[in-house]
Parts: sequence; C-alpha cells; structure tokens
Amino acid sequence: MTLRVFHCKDCGHHMRFAGNHCGRCYAKKDAFQRPGLWYALLALLIILLLVGGLRYLTAGL
Ligand SMILES: [Zn+2]
Repeated sequence: MTLRVFHCKDCGHHMRFAGNHCGRCYAKKDAFQRPGLWYALLALLIILLLVGGLRYLTAGL
C-alpha cells in the first residue's frame, strides 16, 4: 500500500508516506510528513486510550 498524499515542497513530487526524504530530489521532508512522527502520535493515542479505558473500567469499583 502506498499513500501519496504529500507533495515535495522543493520539486512538487508526490511523495510516498514512508521514508524521510523526497523520492525524486531527496529533499528532507517536513516533520509532519515523516512516518516516525505519526507512529509516535499513534502510539501516544493508543496509550492514552488504554489509560482512559482502564480508568473507565475501574471507576465503578
Ligand atoms: Zn522533491
């Protein structure tokens, strides 16, 4: 699966989501276009949901 939702700010190339550089001109992506940041955010969201879920489950005890 390839997501090409980002455009390179230097050459306008439609970039794949994976990788930290443009596939054509190899310019560095912006931070929000890099997968690592989104994986970190996703992990944080899952942790928050788990903590929130545990609190909800234990609230009635
Ligand atoms: Zn580029």
